[in-house]
Amino acid sequence: MIMKILRALVWPIVLTGGFYLAVSLEFPAPCARPIAYSIGRVDPQFHVSRDTFLKDVQDAEKVWEHESGKQLFTYDSNAQFTVNLVYDQRQQVVDQTNQFTHQLDTLSAQQQSAKNKYDQAYASYTSAKNAYLQDVKDRNKSYDELEQERVAVNKLADTVNGLATKEQQIVSTYNANVQQFNTTYAGQREFDQGEYQGNTITIYEFSKNDDLQLVLEHELGHALGLGHVENPASIMYYMVNPKNLASKELSIQDIGGLTAQCKKTSLEIFWEHLQIAVSKLLHPV
Ligand SMILES: [Zn+2]
Repeated sequence: MIMKILRALVWPIVLTGGFYLAVSLEFPAPCARPIAYSIGRVDPQFHVSRDTFLKDVQDAEKVWEHESGKQLFTYDSNAQFTVNLVYDQRQQVVDQTNQFTHQLDTLSAQQQSAKNKYDQAYASYTSAKNAYLQDVKDRNKSYDELEQERVAVNKLADTVNGLATKEQQIVSTYNANVQQFNTTYAGQREFDQGEYQGNTITIYEFSKNDDLQLVLEHELGHALGLGHVENPASIMYYMVNPKNLASKELSIQDIGGLTAQCKKTSLEIFWEHLQIAVSKLLHPV
């Protein structure tokens, strides 16, 4: 009798156990073991070496690991999960903006120096012209002397006009550059700087190292299973907030998200994936 009951229980136990094992392998409990990653593509246009990029990722990990007190990520050169730095139109716009700003600065400096030269020349012209008019009035110079003076004043006037034209040309170039830049790049900065997709993190755009850090921290947060939060001071805010660049601290919302995520079991994660899959089936995009 007992043997019969046991025999009847074998299959349900084996099936349940098998199911549980499969779920925990496919949907590991978050934070239970580190996510292994490798460095994938690092495009040379960023001028960041693979080693430096790895160090950046390792620094970004710390913000989450420090809070949870666990090792959440680990570098493994063979890991399927890759972190990438891909150069496309997004970074090109950043680079061109920097180049363009530099060009404008140069033009501004040229314009200032042209203006200084013009002011000086104009002052010389004015005093020469007044001296000539005075000499004409005083009638104390010969005709030839006055004629020489007149020619000199006219030469100064030509110089002044030439300098004014030059300055005007610089101003026109400046304005044309601004206009060309605006028509080429207006409305093209609507992309995301980074992206997490299942087993890749790809960074497309950053202006400085602290910007890269913040984007990496954000995408690593997604890799941990965290979604976006409302507070703009959060790393998991949907936009990069320049005010966050200096501080590397998690907001209360970031910490809340991490804590909740780390408490989840494999079954809960499986259940979440199942719900998403079902809702996708019911409401295909
Ligand atoms: Zn995001």
